[in-house]
Amino acid sequence: MKPGTESQPLRVAVIGAGPAGFYVVDHLFKQEGLAVTVDLFDRLPTPHGLVRYGVAPDHQKIKQVTKVFDKVAQNPGFRFFGNVELGKHLRPEAMRDYYHQIVYTVGAQTDRNLDIPGENLAGSHSATEFVAWYNGHPDYQNRHFDLSQENVAIVGVGNVAVDVARILCRTVDELAATDIADEAIDALRHSRVRQVYMLGRRGSAQAAFSVQEIKELGNLDHAQVRVLPDEAEPDELTRSELERNPDQTAQKKIQILQDFAVAPHADKPRTLTIRFLVSPVELIGDASGHVCEMRLVKNTLQITGDGTLRPQATEVEQRIPVGLVFRSVGYRGVPLGGVPFHTSWGVIPNKKGRIHDPDASQHVVGEYVAGWIKRGPTGLIGTNKADAVETVTMMLGDLAEGRILNPARPEIDECTAWIAGCQSEYFSFDDWRKLDAYEVNRGKQAGRPRVKLTSVAEMLAVRNGN
Ligand code: NAP
Repeated sequence: MKPGTESQPLRVAVIGAGPAGFYVVDHLFKQEGLAVTVDLFDRLPTPHGLVRYGVAPDHQKIKQVTKVFDKVAQNPGFRFFGNVELGKHLRPEAMRDYYHQIVYTVGAQTDRNLDIPGENLAGSHSATEFVAWYNGHPDYQNRHFDLSQENVAIVGVGNVAVDVARILCRTVDELAATDIADEAIDALRHSRVRQVYMLGRRGSAQAAFSVQEIKELGNLDHAQVRVLPDEAEPDELTRSELERNPDQTAQKKIQILQDFAVAPHADKPRTLTIRFLVSPVELIGDASGHVCEMRLVKNTLQITGDGTLRPQATEVEQRIPVGLVFRSVGYRGVPLGGVPFHTSWGVIPNKKGRIHDPDASQHVVGEYVAGWIKRGPTGLIGTNKADAVETVTMMLGDLAEGRILNPARPEIDECTAWIAGCQSEYFSFDDWRKLDAYEVNRGKQAGRPRVKLTSVAEMLAVRNGN
């Protein structure tokens, strides 16, 4: 008999409790006439993935999406297993003994490199590490960022770069009203940062940040935005491209950047300089091996075969003094043991969410992906909704045609005993609710949305009432 009935529910495991994972669960529960129970796993005790550890602390409104996820969690078929890592606590092959379908929503857990000399000097970091650190991610609390430096460069002009720039430019009073990690506030309190550069390799029209994000930079209390007038202007190729294919978003970005370029000088303690058509080619270290200077080349744009405008280095070089560098050039997925992986794209190969094994030239029965590990690190939180719907549609099609796993132990009690045997310190959703209430309560006393627990040991202590 096909699963999906009250007497034999469809058993689904979703690995990764970020937005993509919750949207998959949500869409499964919305299927009328389908009896389904879902176990949502996360390697951290806390759910919500990048909403908790990626979204900037001064963007609390975006975090309200967790209310939608909390509603999903109220479904009687939902269970959360936090602090349970696939590969560490659970053997991936063993999952197939307990579930009919498995969905990987593990996101993109690392970052891309620049591949330039000096990239690994002291003082050069990935933006993803800095973001995880200031958001209180337990794996990043031992990181040290030398905020005694006056000059900082952020390579890349996407929304992550803008988040990092804002956090570096905001005052401690502004940050102290958010849920930024306490350790980060303490470090930022002593910050001597005065000049932040954000470096785009293409022009103002091609910048990856959103209109709202770039606009917000103009309203920082303690930092003035500086753009060089000639770099705000679109080049000739861009102008003719915009004439052929009008693009309102690009036009708005150009306008905002042109306005920044002519804005009168404001007497603010920090300056955020946004540069375009420049690429770092080397980081230079001082005698102690700490980054002290960046060598840049000016770029021009060239049109490629597929019509996109790509940067082309010129002979013109510039140098800027920098004591701290963040590369913010995109995230990258990491392979999961036993699951196919496309190394150069950094994603699990798939067709509309069905995992595809390129060696065997066929779908992997019963295994799926959604979110960044499926499509790469693009889009906003809401983008994951349509993405999850696409994956779930494939899952339902396969269920209808009987292309699912045939678990030896589909009983829920046997599964619970197996998980508890592999990781006795797992966190249920009720355990998370306890942590959540604790953090929010600590926040109330300090006039903040929450004060985060930043280590698994602290989380265990609160859960256990110690
Ligand atoms: P992103 O949007 O892909 O931006 C990456 C940036 O790095 C681009 O400017 C890219 O330039 C540049 N870059 C790539 N390789 C480079 C290289 N070798 N040298 C110099 N520059 C290079 O990635 P992201 O900022 O990490 O953001 C990831 C996703 O999360 C995005 O979809 C973003 O919108 C989303 N996000 C949203 C928010 C928000 O809504 N507030 C906040 C954070 C993140 P090219 O364009 O030339 O490749």
